Amino acid sequence: MQIAIDGPSSAGKSTVAKKVAQSLGFVYCDTGAMYRAATVLAREYGIDYGDETQILAELSQSEISFKPVASGQLVFLNGEDVTLAIRTPEITNNVSQVSALPKIREELVRQQRKIAGDHDIVMDGRDIGTTVLPDAEVKVFLVASASERARRRYEENIQKGIMTPLAKLQEEIETRDYKDSHRQISPLTKAVDAIEIDSTNLSIREVVERIVELANIAK
Ligand code: C5P
Repeated sequence: MQIAIDGPSSAGKSTVAKKVAQSLGFVYCDTGAMYRAATVLAREYGIDYGDETQILAELSQSEISFKPVASGQLVFLNGEDVTLAIRTPEITNNVSQVSALPKIREELVRQQRKIAGDHDIVMDGRDIGTTVLPDAEVKVFLVASASERARRRYEENIQKGIMTPLAKLQEEIETRDYKDSHRQISPLTKAVDAIEIDSTNLSIREVVERIVELANIAK
């Protein structure tokens, strides 16, 4: 079974997707972490974020992998733990440039389909229901107001010691929404058969329960 969860930045997709996967005993794949890892790769090799050829050359020889742990999930790039490195403001503010490169998307979509091919899966991102897993049995489009998403990101950041002002975070989220929704290839958009859930006034538990219910109906 495949569950696709798409939506804009900081709508709570990964938190919810992780819990849905735990609850159903499915594998969880965070595709945003893969685009972030590609961005870290570019930075580590000093490659311009717009240099598709060079990033692809490194990416196609690299391995991105996940390891579930009690606190969530660790992300590895060529065996190096990049769980924290992929969340820095530098990477967050440049990932949309890398993710707009068609050949980088092609390569990561190939890897994502391979991961999904082997397991029952919950996958979250921007184009899962529309492009990566168009036949997913459950498709959710998770949204929340920009101010609520900024507030959530602000609280998450404080716990990680990242001190970006709330207004700046909201501006960054809106910029990323714009870039992700206006790129040429696989822009962020709701699949026609996706169910929209607005989490602005819902708890994480309520959203998880709703998706698990949809999965049970689809079984
Ligand atoms: O979900 P997260 O905020 O970690 O995603 C980081 C970025 O990766 C997004 O802003 C978007 O540019 C890109 N992305 C994408 N397609 C996906 C998942 C993420 O383009 N399926």
